[in-house]
Amino acid sequence: MNTFKALPPGSTIGIIGNGQLGRMTALAAARLGYMCHVFGPEKDSPAEQVALKATVADYTDQDALIAFANSVDVVTFEFENIPHESVQLLMKHVDVRPGWNCLHISQDRLIEKNFINSCDIETAPYQEVNSLDDLELAVKNLGRPSILKTTRMGYDGKGQALIRPETDITEAYATMANAPSVLEGFVDFQREISVIVARSVCGEWTAFEPAENKHVDGILDTSTVPANIPDGLIEEAVNIAVKLAEKMELIGLLAVEIFHTKDDRLIVNEMAPRPHNSGHWTQDACYSDQYEQFVRAVCGLPLGSVERRNDLVMKNLIGFDVEKWPDYLNEPNAKLHLYGKASTRRGRKMGHVNLVYPLGELPKEA
Ligand code: AMP
Repeated sequence: MNTFKALPPGSTIGIIGNGQLGRMTALAAARLGYMCHVFGPEKDSPAEQVALKATVADYTDQDALIAFANSVDVVTFEFENIPHESVQLLMKHVDVRPGWNCLHISQDRLIEKNFINSCDIETAPYQEVNSLDDLELAVKNLGRPSILKTTRMGYDGKGQALIRPETDITEAYATMANAPSVLEGFVDFQREISVIVARSVCGEWTAFEPAENKHVDGILDTSTVPANIPDGLIEEAVNIAVKLAEKMELIGLLAVEIFHTKDDRLIVNEMAPRPHNSGHWTQDACYSDQYEQFVRAVCGLPLGSVERRNDLVMKNLIGFDVEKWPDYLNEPNAKLHLYGKASTRRGRKMGHVNLVYPLGELPKEA
């Protein structure tokens, strides 16, 4: 099914996935008068606490998927790694935005990189690895350092092995546990940026300006706007994200992570067809944040203004960082966002804080 009628407020949005991205989407949906029904395998999830309804079921549970699809007016995703059969089943019952064409590209690093290159956009050089022999050949071709990544289900640096000059290739291959993988040449970047673009049912798009992202232990630590990149590259980064969204025929949001190299080239690392951690800054800097744009796009509404009103540093509260929450409440420029997770674990995203500054007054150290 694919209808182009706007869903009126009062309709119910089905969200596959029930983490913090679903939670913040449901909150934005509520502001516009929509209800949300979230679907995911975990009980007591961050999204469930703020949604009208939650189905706790596996992503392969056909009966649960059908009942879910029949209880909502449109389905979208805050988590893209859903089996093809499940998406097909949902599509038989309800509009699914974005569609399978977008999900399947971003579920697999190899398909994703082939797609990005087919759009004449640069990625790191890469080679498919399905055996130790493949890896030996790929390391010969791409050199060291290089990064071995599983093609599927990798996030926050998981499912990755850095091949350094001294790394034993057999040991590195063993860490992939025979999962299909890809070896990437190492990009000597000066910084990482990301662009989030929203694209509506009628092909209208808006893009948030690039944020500059810093990672610690493979996990996003901060996103800062404005990014410290030359003006020409801001436009180029936005053009890359828009081109990818258009070629994918995306309805919804696309987050594109990009390396800015030392010789001022832009190289796409990866992308996700959903709200993204590196877009949390938009909540306290833009008239219409990434979650509202997502809801507008998925419901067939016109997109809002992405104009930025402040400079901003988004700091992720990872694991026990969250214990500093009372301190942030005493900072006049800090906007605290907590995800309602009952237990704190090392490496777990517990919340974030947006540190807001007047335009042009970002602290030097940010
Ligand atoms: P990913 O899971 O692909 O987003 O990788 C996590 C982080 O590892 C990235 O944000 C980069 O900091 C780093 N990284 C990933 N791929 C490369 C690469 N080809 N060259 C250099 N650094 C990389």
